[in-house]
Amino acid sequence: MKIIGMIGGMSWESSIEYYRLINEFVRDRLGGLHSARSLMYSVNFEEIEQMQHRGEWDKATELMIDAARRVETGGADFLIICTNTMHRMAEDIERAIHIPLLHIADATAHRIQEKGIRRVGLLGTRFTMEEDFYRGRLQNKFGLEVLTPDTDERERVHRIIYRELCMGKIEQASRQAYLRIIDRLKSRGAEAVILGCTEISLLIKPSDCDIPLFDTTRIHAEAAVDIALK
Ligand code: GLU
Repeated sequence: MKIIGMIGGMSWESSIEYYRLINEFVRDRLGGLHSARSLMYSVNFEEIEQMQHRGEWDKATELMIDAARRVETGGADFLIICTNTMHRMAEDIERAIHIPLLHIADATAHRIQEKGIRRVGLLGTRFTMEEDFYRGRLQNKFGLEVLTPDTDERERVHRIIYRELCMGKIEQASRQAYLRIIDRLKSRGAEAVILGCTEISLLIKPSDCDIPLFDTTRIHAEAAVDIALK
């Protein structure tokens, strides 16, 4: 079994999910007491959040490269970054290390393509919904059409992620807000919605919606286990 390397802590609320999911997938596939060989370096999210919102992306890239090198030095066979947003510097990280990176958007896009879906809604942080590193990758590399909520809705989705979900707060009003936003994406023609932030599945479950949801946390964790067991 290969060793799964993770950069976590963004936020730790979702890192716990990654740890649980990779171990559950390994147990389900191998049975008995089997569990994942893994190591995680977990950052201080307060520092990351400040750099993101001040636009200090160069500094954030340095921090992420340092984290990736620690995981590599620790002996991981490949790396996953346990957040969508911090794939903004995925290419810089890839260039700085010698182990492969399993990109969260690629893992998700493969799943979407398998289902024959072409037009998807995307929820995530403002960075993920608005910047090219994520939407552009889905569109250019995988030919998906990506719909995002309107400006006010994007702001709401973003605020709920940082002020609630990353702090472990699950609010019914926020769940209703997300469901309304998902509904509007559907009425604009989305065939499915990407939960493109690793905390959203703490708030919304597939059974809450009548449209398929692609949970990036779960998909990424499962794709990592596929590689680990290959
Ligand atoms: N975990 C979130 C994501 O998947 C947001 C936290 C972050 O900014 O990294 O994008």
